[in-house]
Amino acid sequence: MIQPMTRNLALSLIVFLLPVLAAAQTADVILSRDSAAAPKWALAIHGGAGTIPKNLPEEQKQQYLKSLTRALEIGRDVLKGGGTSLDAVEKVVRFLEDDPLFNAGKGAVYTHEGTHELDAAIMDGRDLSCGSVAGLKTVKHPVTLARLVKEKSPHVFLVGEGAEAFATQMKVERVKNDWFDTPFRYQQLQEALKEEREKKDKDTVGAVALDTHGNLAAATSTGGLTNKRFGRLGDVPVIGAGTYANNRTAALSGTGIGEEFIKHTVTHDISALVEYGGLTLQQAADRVIHQKLKPGDGGVIGVGRDGSIALVFNSEGMYRGAADSGGRFEVKIWE
Ligand code: ASP
Repeated sequence: MIQPMTRNLALSLIVFLLPVLAAAQTADVILSRDSAAAPKWALAIHGGAGTIPKNLPEEQKQQYLKSLTRALEIGRDVLKGGGTSLDAVEKVVRFLEDDPLFNAGKGAVYTHEGTHELDAAIMDGRDLSCGSVAGLKTVKHPVTLARLVKEKSPHVFLVGEGAEAFATQMKVERVKNDWFDTPFRYQQLQEALKEEREKKDKDTVGAVALDTHGNLAAATSTGGLTNKRFGRLGDVPVIGAGTYANNRTAALSGTGIGEEFIKHTVTHDISALVEYGGLTLQQAADRVIHQKLKPGDGGVIGVGRDGSIALVFNSEGMYRGAADSGGRFEVKIWE
């Protein structure tokens, strides 16, 4: 038996809640209208940031633009077809790893000893699951091994010999270390050796994406710095430095002086400014790249949970591209 007082309380609760529920419904309608206008998928890619001379020979410039265009098309097709952001970023980065123009996979720079050591990472913004590999010598597509670390191992970061052993277990494609040799990178090593310094050769690759299911993912791959020594690792495989994705904020991939990106935990910092600081992705990326890093340190690409795209760099140029379901499709090198 319901007591009159309880009944009165229930009645006044209903009276109070009705307008609240109605308002919530209207808000829902407005929300879904907004999200209908927002891009259903979005993609950004980079092929490295640095001192890219504006007088780059036309033929070379066209080669870069052509490769970036193809990479963007590959990612676009995955996302447009309803594929996952994780598949899109892996596929784009694999393509760029195969292109000797870029400092990842086939075009990886040389270490001081005249060999190649490759690093990569991938991260799923849905559950923060991630995989990193570093110091690889024989893995043709480091980004794919990074994904296998994420999906087939209980760990998130494998390096050197252990990572190679894991590659054997996973049966990924292998090559001899000198397969990564290219005359252009060899020349860069000779110059760096002459100047006795590590050299930042600007062509690390990365991709970030939002898929039609609302999930974000990021992937980055690199040969590191020319003339690097002592097992040097950069920011690329360090989650939160060169690579980060979180469905609550954004997917981000950096390129530049890895040591600076690690010190400033660049990609996580941008994500945190969005999550806790209330900044937009663009504002957060601008803040970190232009106010925390020094001019010339590098840049970052990001895709926000709303499909917004940020391409920010403090170097002379950044090989980059952006596409979304709203019809945007562009590749650029300088401003
Ligand atoms: N960030 C990379 C590294 O320091 C280099 C690059 O972006 O080109 O290993």
